[in-house]
Amino acid sequence: MSTPRPQPRDDLRALEGYHSAQVEVPVRLNTNESPYPPPPEFMADWLAALADASYNRYPDRDASELRAALAQRLGQPAARVFPANGSNEVLQTILLTYGGNGRRALVFEPTYALHAHLARITATEVVAGHRDEHLAIDLDAAADLIERDRPAIVFVCTPNNPTGTVESRDTVEGLLRHVARYGGLLVVDEAYGEFAPWSALDLVDDAVPLVVVRTYSKVWSLAAVRLGFAVGPEWLVAELEKVVLPYHLSVPTQLAGRLALTHEREMQSRVASLIEERGRVFAALSDLDGITVFPSGANFLLFRVHGDGRAVWKSLLARGVLVRDFSRWPSLDECLRVTVGTPVENDAFLAALRGTLQEVGAA
Ligand code: PMP
Repeated sequence: MSTPRPQPRDDLRALEGYHSAQVEVPVRLNTNESPYPPPPEFMADWLAALADASYNRYPDRDASELRAALAQRLGQPAARVFPANGSNEVLQTILLTYGGNGRRALVFEPTYALHAHLARITATEVVAGHRDEHLAIDLDAAADLIERDRPAIVFVCTPNNPTGTVESRDTVEGLLRHVARYGGLLVVDEAYGEFAPWSALDLVDDAVPLVVVRTYSKVWSLAAVRLGFAVGPEWLVAELEKVVLPYHLSVPTQLAGRLALTHEREMQSRVASLIEERGRVFAALSDLDGITVFPSGANFLLFRVHGDGRAVWKSLLARGVLVRDFSRWPSLDECLRVTVGTPVENDAFLAALRGTLQEVGAA
């Protein structure tokens, strides 16, 4: 007699995992990381602190020093800061706490796939709103959806991944008003916030249902460490604390997060040079006949190929350049997304793209 195999929850069976190709190629511009390793001075500080830590004990459960350092940098009380293993764990904890069976989460497609994915994993129903012709959120349409579906959580990703679109302050404030009316929570995902012209961080207040999510994975060059944080009302942080696993943040992670903040100037100069490179790559893409490039407030650019996007993606890969293929995504037909890398990587990408367009005759 064969024993029955344990089955996942019915609602998880149809779910697909989250995939982004990790291929070894000379130029990897597909996952929006920093192209630079962390500064050597940071590494020296971190390694020295690691050598001094006690590993037989659990880490500080409250990550007090990390929180205090973040709070000071952000000009917020420490009780409004919630750090976790990458902003993905922050987002998951928000969904575990405020989503779940019988509740809805609203996302504006196309956007960061993990918002809907984590919603489904936590048995939260996903409602999809859409974007206007500029790939921005239409506030009136969003207000109608919020009134109709009363989502417990509304996700706004700004700058939006994968489009690069920056929502206006008016849109975020307007959404906040609508969400608040029905007892919902507005989650502003600012994973790319440091590259953008404005931030919703200064809207955070104990009196408003807004939480802003940020990460160390991009500008702090620490994607491998897995550290992100939320800034939200004290009452929200207190609820998240009840749900997240105890001791979830390891000693090395807490130390890295705190010490990285002492290298702020280095971080700022990297942001400035990536923004400059973004401008240069944007201008070069705009000059190409076979391409339409979208404005971006992030460290990546979305562009549409006038032809077969998938074929262009493959040809770039054959030339040693990996970008992200969105060509089969709804509303993003024939689109590819390229992370802004070092000047050398960006030149390699542009040369590979010019070669590809000539080959396929789109230039
Ligand atoms: N939010 C957005 C919009 C992202 O693009 C990413 C990374 N791809 C994340 C969150 C997750 O970042 P991490 O978990 O590395 O902090």
